[in-house]
Amino acid sequence: MTYQNFSLAQLQAMDAAHHLHPFTDHKDLRAAGSRIITRASGPYVYDTEGREILDGMAGLWCVNVGYGRDELAEVAYEQMKELPYYNSFFRCSTPTPVLLSQKLAERAPKNVNQVFYGSSGSEANDTALRLVRHYWALEGRPQKNRIISRHWAYHGSTVAGTSLGGMGGMHDQLYGAVPNIAHVMPPYAFELRRPGESDHDFGLRAAQAVEDAILEAGADNVAAFIGEPVMGAGGVKIPPESYWPEIDRICKKHDVLLMLDEVITGYGRTGAWFAAERLGLEPDTITTAKALTSGYQPLSALLVGDRIAKTLVEKGGEFYHGYTYSGHPVACAVALRNIEIIEREGLVERVRDDTGPYFANALNERIAGHGIVGEVRAFGLMGAIEIVADKETRERFPGQGTAAVTLRDHAIEGGLMMRAVGDTMILSPPLIWTRDTIDMACDRIVTALDRAEKDLRKG
Ligand code: PMP
Repeated sequence: MTYQNFSLAQLQAMDAAHHLHPFTDHKDLRAAGSRIITRASGPYVYDTEGREILDGMAGLWCVNVGYGRDELAEVAYEQMKELPYYNSFFRCSTPTPVLLSQKLAERAPKNVNQVFYGSSGSEANDTALRLVRHYWALEGRPQKNRIISRHWAYHGSTVAGTSLGGMGGMHDQLYGAVPNIAHVMPPYAFELRRPGESDHDFGLRAAQAVEDAILEAGADNVAAFIGEPVMGAGGVKIPPESYWPEIDRICKKHDVLLMLDEVITGYGRTGAWFAAERLGLEPDTITTAKALTSGYQPLSALLVGDRIAKTLVEKGGEFYHGYTYSGHPVACAVALRNIEIIEREGLVERVRDDTGPYFANALNERIAGHGIVGEVRAFGLMGAIEIVADKETRERFPGQGTAAVTLRDHAIEGGLMMRAVGDTMILSPPLIWTRDTIDMACDRIVTALDRAEKDLRKG
């Protein structure tokens, strides 16, 4: 039985009757019905009506090599025939995670040489949290277990991921967070910079909030700081250049481990294999997922730094942690080929030298001047557009988030998939976008902005 046997209305009715979607108001969805995407090719996705939509979000920040890569399907097929599954518990291994670990160690910052696998970014962050606390326990300092994170951070949707993250709405629904995780201000200059304060000074002040939290708890009680190099789901919040070097200095000064969450920024999105490289950081853990397989298979890799790995190996004792699908042979085979594609096509260098700068320039030249745009930001192929009612005062439209949703709906209508986060529009296209694709996306954004402005000013 295939979906072609059903009409859109029938598919929507079955979806509504049986399928609970992630991050969804289920009452709303029942009323509106879902948009059903049936196929995809290159940079485009297609819905049941055959409408072609340019995918400005690379799925969910993951399809870095674009859609329709036959070789990824073929490599999965071959691996499934040869060995669809075997576990990596109990002193067993399979070839593809071995080869992938070797490859990732080559690509990661030089102090990072070990990999722990899961199936999602959330799982990888659960692993990271447990591993970092276990590290300090092995070092004979079990009380050094507080984690400092930021408001607006997104680290996943499991209990640990939500606890590490800093999304207010998600915390309200935790009904019991993982203890001993503190959240400080994010480096979000657009809303938090004081009048007259330079970007540089704001970055230092945001970093100081981390040091204040360390001092308040006492450095002896703080295990690690966790952060996304650029906050993604929180609205592509790009920190001032002064921020990360200062965080690095503070962590080293207080012997606090650095955990980077590169679930979005990993595998080329920022114009480097990992943002850590671009920012000159040597983290103790790097959480990765999504573009590791370009979303063709669910797979996450927690990259673990030498400091933690050395203690694990030297002190020994079982680390009681792992998932059935840790090191899944098919997912790892797909990841290996996906990385090969990124290398073969020079996608990282393309973002760094060509499309990244072109994208930033296009947003500045063509979007920033629009009447309802307060600011544009870009970092590699991540972009943000702040929607405001008044360009000068940066006053927002009434009804938090409604302006961006209006714009998003116009964008999709006009053939561009974008996402709204609060009053911010975000973009995270596949790395196969060319200058022409960026131009096409900007045309569609301008049209959507014009239409949204008309609607919003009318109200
Ligand atoms: N960390 C970050 C930075 C993310 O953006 C995400 C997902 N958007 C996650 C963790 C969680 O990943 P997953 O949805 O695969 O669990």
